[in-house]
Amino acid sequence: MRHQSVIEWWKFVKASGSWADDHTTLGRPHGLHLLTMSSDTTPLDTDNPRRPRVSRRRMIVGGGVGVSALALGRMGSGSVGAVAGELNEPGSALETATRVTTTTTTTTTTSVPPTPGDLGVDEILFPIIVGPDDSCFVSDNFGACRSGCSRRHEGTDIMADHLLPIRAVATGVLTKKYVDTGKTYGAGNGWTLFDADTNITWKFFHMDHHADGLEVGDTVEFGQVIGAVGNTGTSGAFSDTNYHLHFEYRPENIPRNSYQLLQRDPNVTFA
Ligand SMILES: [Zn+2]
Repeated sequence: MRHQSVIEWWKFVKASGSWADDHTTLGRPHGLHLLTMSSDTTPLDTDNPRRPRVSRRRMIVGGGVGVSALALGRMGSGSVGAVAGELNEPGSALETATRVTTTTTTTTTTSVPPTPGDLGVDEILFPIIVGPDDSCFVSDNFGACRSGCSRRHEGTDIMADHLLPIRAVATGVLTKKYVDTGKTYGAGNGWTLFDADTNITWKFFHMDHHADGLEVGDTVEFGQVIGAVGNTGTSGAFSDTNYHLHFEYRPENIPRNSYQLLQRDPNVTFA
């Protein structure tokens, strides 16, 4: 069943200096309406944290399409860079992004819980559960300049609807819990996940909230929901609607580009 829908998507604008400077240099993509252009540096209101609303996820379990909905597919282009050697500085979660609107076509389909067997060689489970009516845009921004190129962006930013579920991309142990301070810097709410079997470390920043009950030291399973898409930490400094996940993929704890490795459900439109 196909239908037309207007989805929001985001266009990432690579940083070339401080983000204040970045923001003043944002261009307006041809034919696209920018929903947010102004910089909002108002600290997050810690007394009124955003709490989960009913998930906008519209995944349909069961039905006619079945497992094929998780057939592996890749979209977009980009390079699997090897600039990790330059990526030694922490706190690379600075973001610049703008939300734009366009019209596209999505396909309603079915989905089933993922298993590691659904992944192809070198594929990474997509860290956000995205339904066919949800919005998502993967920024090919690993290694992008930050602070005038004095450091590099160590992750891949995935712009997505507020509160879409974030899931563990591997079975492993939560080794660090980042808690939003209400300030507009840093990781916001986040996790570090470590998979001892593969010696890969994963990081998830700017979450709205952590999944209930999870703490450092807990083991989470492949596909388990660990949080929800938010706009905390540095992300929230940019605008009140800069919802995205800063996702880091660190084999042997060295940041690597996950852009092309991320599994994209072929039945979801990634703008
Ligand atoms: Zn980021």
